[in-house]
Amino acid sequence: MSRAVRIVEVRAIPLSAPTPPAAQISLGIGKSVKRDAVLVRVATEDGLVGWGEAHAARAPTAIAELLGTTIRQLVLGMNAADITGVWERVYRMQLASHGMGAAAAIALSGLDMALWDLRGKREGRPLYALLGGRPRAMPAYAGGISFGFQPEDALVAEARTAVAAGYRALKLRLGASVEADLAAVRAVRAALGPAIDILADANCSYSPEVAAALLPALDEVGVGWLEEPFPAPDHRAYRALPRSHRTPIAAGENHYLRHDFERLADDGVVSIWQPDLSKCGGITEALRIAALAREHGIAIHPHTSVTGLNVAASLHFLAALPNAGYFEADYSISNPLRTALCAPVATIGADGAFRPPEGPGLGVEIDEEELARHPVRGGAGYV
Ligand SMILES: [Mg+2]
Repeated sequence: MSRAVRIVEVRAIPLSAPTPPAAQISLGIGKSVKRDAVLVRVATEDGLVGWGEAHAARAPTAIAELLGTTIRQLVLGMNAADITGVWERVYRMQLASHGMGAAAAIALSGLDMALWDLRGKREGRPLYALLGGRPRAMPAYAGGISFGFQPEDALVAEARTAVAAGYRALKLRLGASVEADLAAVRAVRAALGPAIDILADANCSYSPEVAAALLPALDEVGVGWLEEPFPAPDHRAYRALPRSHRTPIAAGENHYLRHDFERLADDGVVSIWQPDLSKCGGITEALRIAALAREHGIAIHPHTSVTGLNVAASLHFLAALPNAGYFEADYSISNPLRTALCAPVATIGADGAFRPPEGPGLGVEIDEEELARHPVRGGAGYV
């Protein structure tokens, strides 16, 4: 039974982890040179602490500033167990009126995750149980910042390591050029055979003409989905895609709140939805998005953010959905914000699947001493 427990502190911690040159990956949005994240620490009057992750949005200090000032003031003293009440207050006071749009949705996402973590810790139950799920095995694909632009033999070698690690699906980065993109998917298909699900992410880098020209070839290779051919607001470009292709179109990591997903449902082009729990409005809003998706016969394949908090939250969330798709596992060579900050680190099981952690709340512990080793750094994460 939840009782009223007041929020007594909200702190946002922006973090950065430079990527060593040998581990830098090029993809449709440039070369990844660092990872950024914003952690949200919420304390309640009974001494409990909950943690959430807000996406860094290429401006980690700006997201942290919004959380640590305006949003902190809005929610201090509120009942931490009233998660939808907190959500609604931030939505009405900061997002809907004179707010910061996507930045406010991102900040709200991190706060909401921390409140769910707190609730689980207070009740001594893992998040999947709070959400009505069970600790089931979640099929995964190897994703994150990986399988970038590189010579075909190196790409095939990287793909083989993922399959050897147990993955039955992986996601290639497209957007280099039509020729290079087709050569990449064909080379990986030829090397791995038909049993591996090959997914493709263009990171918004295509024109409508290029996407239309590529889709028949992706159909031929048997690509599981083409992700974000265009920027999220380019509704006309999505609607203008030829309907003759078999390859499903995926998007959602740059869609905010259920209203953006309602538009996707109305347009009827994107059939793979990828909300990010650290961007879309949080776990609370993602449940609403998942319910909308289910009405339309659509599965949810959440985009994962950077740290082990988002990873754990995504696994709990998927474990509670009737329309769960893949878990996106971060297959980056180097991401200490995932592997060093939180324990336990999620790992692939012998069956090629991931399971949500069993501890209360998100089920991961933050090493607060480790936070000081990753001070935020200005500048672009992709160059
Ligand atoms: Mg993507």
